[in-house]
Amino acid sequence: MERSASGLPGAEPFLRQLCWRDFFAQALAERPEVAWSDGADQDWRDDEEGLEAWREGRTGYPVVDAAMRQLRHDGFVPNRARMVVASFLTKDLGIDWRVGARHFLDWLVDGDLASNNLNWQWTAGLLPGPNPHRVLDPTRQGHRFDPDGSYVRRFVGELGPVAGGAVHEPWRLDPARRRRLGYPSPIVDHGDAVDAYRARRFGHRAR
Ligand SMILES: Cc1cc2nc3c(=O)[nH]c(=O)nc-3n(C[C@H](O)[C@H](O)[C@H](O)COP(=O)(O)OP(=O)(O)OC[C@H]3O[C@@H](n4cnc5c(N)ncnc54)[C@H](O)[C@@H]3O)c2cc1C
Repeated sequence: MERSASGLPGAEPFLRQLCWRDFFAQALAERPEVAWSDGADQDWRDDEEGLEAWREGRTGYPVVDAAMRQLRHDGFVPNRARMVVASFLTKDLGIDWRVGARHFLDWLVDGDLASNNLNWQWTAGLLPGPNPHRVLDPTRQGHRFDPDGSYVRRFVGELGPVAGGAVHEPWRLDPARRRRLGYPSPIVDHGDAVDAYRARRFGHRAR
């Protein structure tokens, strides 16, 4: 594979992704117990309502909702969107990554214990590296990776009439228009949720 891809356009990032896949597969083969173990010993939150909103794609954060609806519709979600929704569940909502990992395995057509569960742990900040401190901002991620909003409009029907990147911030629309669209308000304030996550995880509230 390495020999046939090298030199072609996009070969380097493609091979890097394959390295992740193989690394996670080897890690799990070596220590099968890491599939569901939780090294951080962190207090996860019980939040049935938040969990249901995440599963059904009605968190009020358009890119999160688009990805969660795509998961049910297509059984596939692009890598960046998987990272955004996993960060949102574990850091904004503080819900145990294992709940999210199970849900993914239930719906993904490419569900794979090693890639799925170790990516969940990585995104939740449980593997070595800078990730414990990194919380993906769903609005910024939306603007960055879906600048014209077409991904959101494809899966979040309520936001279909909203043109361009404005679709990532429906709370900025005129209130009467928002009501007509019938799209939910954010279930958490991202900034407050980041503070709460850091307080739970590191015992301080600095952003
Ligand atoms: C929370 C989370 C859960 C995931 N669950 C799964 C899963 O159940 N099954 C699965 O195959 N992948 C999983 N991935 C990895 C990745 O998202 C998918 O493999 C990717 O969406 C495939 O897209 P692609 O074929 O366009 O990949 P490309 O970017 O073209 O990469 C080529 C191949 O490399 C592998 N790959 C790419 N990204 C990753 C990655 N981050 N980790 C490991 N391997 C990777 C895949 O086999 C992929 O087909 C997960 C990632 C995250 C963040």
